[in-house]
Amino acid sequence: TKSLARKTVFITAAGQGIGRASAIAFAEAGAMVHATDINEQALADLPRVENLKASRLDVLDEAAVKAAVDQIGQVDILFNCAGVVHGGSILEMKDSDLDFAFDLNVKAMIRTIRAVLPGMLERKDGAIINMSSVASSIKGVPNRFAYGTTKAAVIGLTKHVAADYVTQGIRCNCICPGTVESPSLQDRMRAQGDYETARAAFIARQPMGRLGSPEEIADLAVYIAGATYTSGQAFCIDGGWTI
Ligand code: NAD
Repeated sequence: TKSLARKTVFITAAGQGIGRASAIAFAEAGAMVHATDINEQALADLPRVENLKASRLDVLDEAAVKAAVDQIGQVDILFNCAGVVHGGSILEMKDSDLDFAFDLNVKAMIRTIRAVLPGMLERKDGAIINMSSVASSIKGVPNRFAYGTTKAAVIGLTKHVAADYVTQGIRCNCICPGTVESPSLQDRMRAQGDYETARAAFIARQPMGRLGSPEEIADLAVYIAGATYTSGQAFCIDGGWTI
């Protein structure tokens, strides 16, 4: 379908994993996609189609975020996908990890939302989609203190943006995946030493008995972008983790 034809989408962390799959899915849905990531090499692997433009953007850099949005012009759909996972409990976590997780997982979304909102408000139309996780305020997960705390903040910021602008044509929702196959998940499995045991443990916590695919999450992002009667929601897509 071409349901998102004439819509412009700005995606962060589109070089790999869910962000990459989403850039492709939005392009297939007919949107004009601006795929950004800090990793230029990863962006170079995106398919070369007319309605998908890739450019380097570090979402920690406020001036760069503003400049990127100025260059794109009209942003109809913002998908904030950038995020980082730190391991550890509250006692094991480093303060520097927590600060970094807040900067990348939470404040980066605030930067991009502030940059796109004035234009969306002028047109009284905009869809903002933020990447949270089931590991957030939805579910406490062992060994994920900094991550789960910041992803809970993503649900909070999503609901508060939704509440402030619900009468002005702006929708703001978030996605809460379970465990999804991605390059960084592969890194986390390898980092545990015994890859097969680590992989089996990740699969075991998913009642459907498998990991999610980035494409499954991307389909939900495209759906939410066009779901015009929903705002402020946290959409779980988690292989049955929260049943
Ligand atoms: P990933 O972690 O493999 O890739 C992350 C991407 O973010 C990389 O391309 C990286 O270059 C980019 N990035 C890192 N720092 C950046 C910065 N400062 N500016 C711009 N880009 C930057 O991909 P993933 O596992 O699909 O995760 C994507 C999002 O989904 C994250 O927010 C993650 O927390 C969330 N999530 C993932 C899972 C999972 O199981 N994979 C589950 C729930 C939520």
